[in-house]
Amino acid sequence: MSDIIHLLPDNVANQIAAGEVIQRPASCLKELVENSLDAGAAHIRVIVRDAGRTLLQVVDDGKGMSATDARMAFERHATSKISQASDLFQLRTMGFRGEALASICAVAHVEVQTRREEDEIGTRLEIAGSEVVCQELVQCPIGTNMRVKNLFYNVPARRKFLKTDQTELRNLMTEYQRIALVNPQVQFTFVSNDEIISELPPSTLKQRIEAVFGHSSKPYTGHLVDIATETELVRISGFIGKPETAGKNSHQYMFVNGRYMRHPYFHKALMTAYSGMLLPEHTPSYFLYFEIDPEAIDVNIHPTKTEIKFADEQAIFQILLAATKEALGKFNVAPSLDFTSEQPLDIPQQKPGAMPIAVPRVQLDPTYNPFKSQAVRTTTPKGWEQLYEPLQSTSIPAEPLFEVPAISEATPLFQWDNRYILAPTAAGLMMIHQHRAHARVLYKVLLEQITTEQAATQPLLFPEIIELTDTDLDTLERLLPELRSVGFDLEQFSPSAYSINAIPALLGQKNAVDTIMQVLHSVQDTEQTATQQWQESIALSLALQMAIPQGKSLTEMEMRDLLQRLLQTSSPRYLPNGQTIITILTHEEIQKRF
Ligand code: ADP
Ligand code: MG
Repeated sequence: MSDIIHLLPDNVANQIAAGEVIQRPASCLKELVENSLDAGAAHIRVIVRDAGRTLLQVVDDGKGMSATDARMAFERHATSKISQASDLFQLRTMGFRGEALASICAVAHVEVQTRREEDEIGTRLEIAGSEVVCQELVQCPIGTNMRVKNLFYNVPARRKFLKTDQTELRNLMTEYQRIALVNPQVQFTFVSNDEIISELPPSTLKQRIEAVFGHSSKPYTGHLVDIATETELVRISGFIGKPETAGKNSHQYMFVNGRYMRHPYFHKALMTAYSGMLLPEHTPSYFLYFEIDPEAIDVNIHPTKTEIKFADEQAIFQILLAATKEALGKFNVAPSLDFTSEQPLDIPQQKPGAMPIAVPRVQLDPTYNPFKSQAVRTTTPKGWEQLYEPLQSTSIPAEPLFEVPAISEATPLFQWDNRYILAPTAAGLMMIHQHRAHARVLYKVLLEQITTEQAATQPLLFPEIIELTDTDLDTLERLLPELRSVGFDLEQFSPSAYSINAIPALLGQKNAVDTIMQVLHSVQDTEQTATQQWQESIALSLALQMAIPQGKSLTEMEMRDLLQRLLQTSSPRYLPNGQTIITILTHEEIQKRF
């Protein structure tokens, strides 16, 4: 038999590689804008038509390319940014793989015009399916103008996977904002279907955050406090939100050396610093900028991944934790908290000659100290005013806090109605919702698994197929990393179906398809973009799916075990969605009945 192995032609190899790098218009935008930044552009314009489907254009005033370089740029592994392996440890540029342009021109029609300052005349190139179809000299401004047309024209499967224009435009915007938030000195313009939808002048970091998220009526950055720390290992700067403005739609951004990143472990450092200050399910805003020796991080992972590995994560965790506590401690504005309101407080700004300002309406009981009973939160034995000295607070919780009484081996436990666990304690009759108690315990475990990606999984002998609508498919794809980290092994089966090859060991006998569908729908109900909230809502909805139901009879041992694990969680009284787990019928309340 003759030999059968041969090398793939370049255009085929490029098209395969493109599948990795360019998944949707937003990944194309990221690559092009990063190239403009690497080229030292001061003004970058992004122009899209039909959410990047028909046109995605990036125009910059950077250093441009020579005629030869312009042609070379589209070859695979063609880069001006690194030349040897050791350069990888000293990266100062966004790009380095030399595969973005090669990938883009394999799956789209590309037209580029570019000119360097030293050249009188520029170059124009047209490329289709990786082939240069035209190269000529042109009059054009200094810089580079890349037009990517008909993205995925030759990859119908990819094109079919694109979501609605609205979703793809949102993805484009997300990518654009991430880049804009870490390059405030650069001017950005975003035009969609001939309409300017974002114009960001060169500015300071704070002004940039304001320009991205602010509405003219009230300053967005008003609730942010500075955070800054510098150690030999890392420099951290930026802003964090005051605790009382934390919410479900707050913004979380972390960047390292100019690159957006997701870092669940550092997020946890921040949340630890805020613990005791936040309502369940609320997350503070933050904009954190890490600067670190490029040798101490590894960005050499997949081009579309936003996770970045740090050599010294634990030390940085501690540094971030301390810096956050310090920043929170410095701000001793002592805002009035109104826990009953969903809205962040509007803190009015006094303008000369303005009307006298009404104090926000908050009921105050001068003798009430919310921290007297702070010990209920098992992880924060002290109130945060004690942790961060300069802080003062007049916060009023929606209902008085009570101490969760200790449960000893000797405390008798009863199950009532196969629904509630009853425990007589010194403080009164404690009643525990068994389903929610178990969900609270599982929530903690699942969230840890999602952030550490370590879960026990159980392979299915016969993979189950889950058929999905477009919307569900969209959600599922966004959830894939989290579902995988809790132990689901999912694999694309057809354009509209996934196969479930393994399930979390925790899931037991529960139906995997039902569980996933429930999670998708509950996540869709809450439109969340920040990673942490995303992960929290997945963990919670999985926990609710997996927890023992109301109506299940429990042995005393099971009850004791459940209670013990519940009381070890950071907030045993409530589920993260605010539902009550434990309540106490006090002596007084009992006496009143007789
Ligand atoms: P990488 O950015 O990893 O080097 P790319 O495929 O994105 O790879 O780009 C290849 C090369 O083309 C870059 O190294 C750079 O020299 C050149 N290039 C791309 N875009 C621009 C631009 N907007 N301005 C100047 N040079 C560019
Ligand atoms: Mg690049």
